[in-house]
Amino acid sequence: MTIVFLALLTLIEGVRRVPRGSVVLHRVLFGQWTVEPPETGDRVRLLSWWSPLASAIVLAPREKYRRTDADTVRAQVEGRDLYTALFDLRVLGIVELLVLVVGVWFALQRFGTLGFFVAVGAVLLLCVVIFTALAFSAHGLGKPWRTALRWAFSYLSPFAAPRAADALLEETLRDVPPAVASAALLPADEFQRWVRPLVYDATNGREVDRRLLEGLNLKQLSASLASHNGAGLWCPRCGATFVQGESCSECDIHLVPAGTPSA
Ligand SMILES: [Zn+2]
Repeated sequence: MTIVFLALLTLIEGVRRVPRGSVVLHRVLFGQWTVEPPETGDRVRLLSWWSPLASAIVLAPREKYRRTDADTVRAQVEGRDLYTALFDLRVLGIVELLVLVVGVWFALQRFGTLGFFVAVGAVLLLCVVIFTALAFSAHGLGKPWRTALRWAFSYLSPFAAPRAADALLEETLRDVPPAVASAALLPADEFQRWVRPLVYDATNGREVDRRLLEGLNLKQLSASLASHNGAGLWCPRCGATFVQGESCSECDIHLVPAGTPSA
């Protein structure tokens, strides 16, 4: 019973508000990031299940971005400092989550009250370690100590602490346009799959949320996406290939022979 209750409480931490125009990225354990198709509404959703077992980050749009250089962002995301901090926080988060949901219950069953208090102590210790690591990382991102500590404070809660790695990554990418951040995090083919319809719509006078394309070089991007190698037909909007047919079943766009530019 306790186990279900605790698991539910941690699950609630995965419920987030997703502002309109956000890019939502997902990842399972230490796997590759994947991206959700753009959403048109502003919704409260269950985004991640027991992060960091399944993580999610929300790259929300902003009025202005202070950092738009894609290369610098990529270098930071792939850099050792951030990588190590995120890795450590994920491992700590997984351990903390397991001790919280399974460990406390098991210790109580097996060793009684003493076991229970030892396990709770272990959870609290892990939370303090996560909080400290998060505060140091936030300070490393340029936040003054006081701000860094205040920001990290909400992750001192045993239910929020497992999300620390996601929070740090979101905070790192706060001043970066969502598309630039996505390009740095996603595998190239996954990013292309996401950006292709947006670029197509933008260059063909169709309705598109321009905030999703901020920071990208539209001209260069549309040129690099405009052709498709291989045989058969393809949809210039979503990139799907077809053996035969008139138009794409997804986009309702006229198919073009592969190997020819779409525009
Ligand atoms: Zn299509």
